[in-house]
Amino acid sequence: MMIRGTTRVFGIFGHPVDHSLSPLMHNAAFRGLGMDAVYVPFAVAPVRLGEAVAALRALRIAGVNVTIPHKETVLAYLDEVDAAARLIGAVNTVHNRDGYLVGYNTDGTGLIRSLAADLAFDPAGKRVLLLGAGGASRAALVALAETGAAWIGVANRTRPKAENLVAEFRDHFPGTDFAVLDLAASALAVVCPSVNLLLNGTSIGLKGEVFDALPWQQLDRAAVVCDIVYRSPDTPLVMTARSRGHRATGGLGMLIAQGEAAFRIWTGQEPPAGVMRQALAR
Ligand code: NAP
Repeated sequence: MMIRGTTRVFGIFGHPVDHSLSPLMHNAAFRGLGMDAVYVPFAVAPVRLGEAVAALRALRIAGVNVTIPHKETVLAYLDEVDAAARLIGAVNTVHNRDGYLVGYNTDGTGLIRSLAADLAFDPAGKRVLLLGAGGASRAALVALAETGAAWIGVANRTRPKAENLVAEFRDHFPGTDFAVLDLAASALAVVCPSVNLLLNGTSIGLKGEVFDALPWQQLDRAAVVCDIVYRSPDTPLVMTARSRGHRATGGLGMLIAQGEAAFRIWTGQEPPAGVMRQALAR
């Protein structure tokens, strides 16, 4: 890759940011299209976020992804936030349009694309058991409800967080029924026979942990399983699900799809098919 005076600069704001896979994905896509562009990781301390966002204008940085811990706080520094990102309350993609900064959230659309591509699953009219009530689960809940899920049951270790999440969105999505469940085998066993998608939105599995509260025997044989964790292609949850005959996928597909969506927003071009996935596989 040759950096010239004309090279457009993209990047990611996070803290820490050294483990991010996004530079690999986006630089591979730029190379694949022969684009004069580069993607750089920026470690931005929380107290410097305002200055870092202002620098996007000063340095004419064309776009950035935003990751933990800035996804929520960055909204205050942007000129415009698109409707989905405002609803979720988090931005993971900023586009610099000649100094006018627009925020988007591509996590939810990334999940829906991954469900379609990796599991041939469309949430419309379906019943979803969502484990977790953190930031990723919030984006997932909004995307699933927007796509027309018939029922979403939220189970979280800290039950009040699940209750708050459901209370916040129940009225906004009258076409979706919501329930709050205890993250316990006895409670999950009641709903599992009628669930079409089991979605792990918690960080369980990130360090190889196993979900021991799951009543696998009760889960409908036809249910598909998605683990948002992308530590490796096959998390313990994905491996268990497959061993029991369920179609299952980990979070890499969602990670790639959210990156591809950001790439489209910034460049107006389609990233070369499979290039981001191949970059991660290497
Ligand atoms: P977060 O806001 O910190 O939420 C963490 C969630 O995990 C909470 O629901 C928390 O429950 C639950 N949790 C953590 N440890 C647990 C344990 N030992 N037992 C039961 N529940 C536990 O984090 P996040 O941003 O939502 O991220 C969650 C995961 O999604 C991470 O692994 C992240 O890497 C992944 N992610 C993937 C993608 C992708 O593109 N595939 C995108 C975003 C995030 P409490 O509320 O009880 O603490």
